[in-house]
Amino acid sequence: MGDAAVSTFRALVIEKTDAGNIVEFRDLTLADLPDNDTLIDVRYSSLNYKDGLAITGTAPIARRSPMVAGADLVGVVLESAVPDWPAGTPVTVNGWGLSEVHWGGYTQRQRVRSEWLVRVPDAFTLEQAAAIGTAGYTAMLCVLALEEGGVTPESGDVLVTGASGGVGSVAVALLSSLGYRVVAATGSADAQAYLSGLGAAEFIERATLAEKGRPFQAERWAGVVDTVGSTTLANALAQTKYGGTVAACGLAGGNDLPTTVLPFILRGVRLQGVDSVMAPRARREAAWARLARDLDQAKLASITSVEPLSNIFDLAQAILRGETRGRVVIDVNR
Ligand code: NDP
Repeated sequence: MGDAAVSTFRALVIEKTDAGNIVEFRDLTLADLPDNDTLIDVRYSSLNYKDGLAITGTAPIARRSPMVAGADLVGVVLESAVPDWPAGTPVTVNGWGLSEVHWGGYTQRQRVRSEWLVRVPDAFTLEQAAAIGTAGYTAMLCVLALEEGGVTPESGDVLVTGASGGVGSVAVALLSSLGYRVVAATGSADAQAYLSGLGAAEFIERATLAEKGRPFQAERWAGVVDTVGSTTLANALAQTKYGGTVAACGLAGGNDLPTTVLPFILRGVRLQGVDSVMAPRARREAAWARLARDLDQAKLASITSVEPLSNIFDLAQAILRGETRGRVVIDVNR
């Protein structure tokens, strides 16, 4: 769909009604799009946990109605009022409230604010940029958080929870390529070969971290990337070595955190929150530059599947049931 003058295009719209949410494909025109400064020929989006929540109505992600779903958007600039973004520039938008308060990427055309754009690094195709998406860029933010906490490959083992998910898979791939010894916590019995292929050296059964544990446990981890939250994060904190850093980005196991101050005041453990949605542009560009340098493209290919937007209803259910693996690229033209 490279033509700027298309008359109609397809978008996945969530609309609140008195009888509940309607989620359906609609034909839109350019006149329907928001009045932002840059028109994008969208090629791909991706499937994130949040997209599953939004489409199934499991959580009130869309805070405006009607809303075009899709937290990620990857495509090519068709026209922009801002000269920094000439037609043809490959771009990605991750977060910034897309699918929440601003129209998102499950559409063939979108108008976005130029300040949200990150140029897709030359190292990546548009499909690869979507494969990375919010989840992969968040994984890189977590790696940066560990590095900034002083965690090096020599510090000891690093734990990744929710390892076979989108964030987890990219985190395992990145950390192992950077020379860390990665221990992967997973509840997917058949994921070990997949995670070994990404570089995981050892595995922990998800359930052992999910059970409520003592507030202070034997020291195991120099660093942690946690996508699960709740008791898993509490146990990870209690097992983190003196001076270690835990990067917390997710809540796949719950948004509570039943912990104590002991890891912080007796071991100097650092709990670093990681947010991708409102991260400033300089931070995003740093993360994408590091992805271009450090993400093994063969590993990225091994965690990626591409699905048509027309399958989105089944995919949204699947990610919430924990049945997807790695990253799912959404081809918005199919
Ligand atoms: P996925 O669904 O792809 O991955 C989550 C993984 O967590 C699953 O694959 C599974 O891995 C594990 N898991 C699922 N359910 C549970 C459970 N009940 N208890 C413990 N583990 C579970 O999601 P994403 O990778 O896209 O996102 C992961 C989390 O990070 C989500 O909570 C998401 O909202 C959050 N997130 C936050 C961002 C931020 O900016 N802070 C950005 C992106 C995501 P396995 O089978 O291997 O155990």
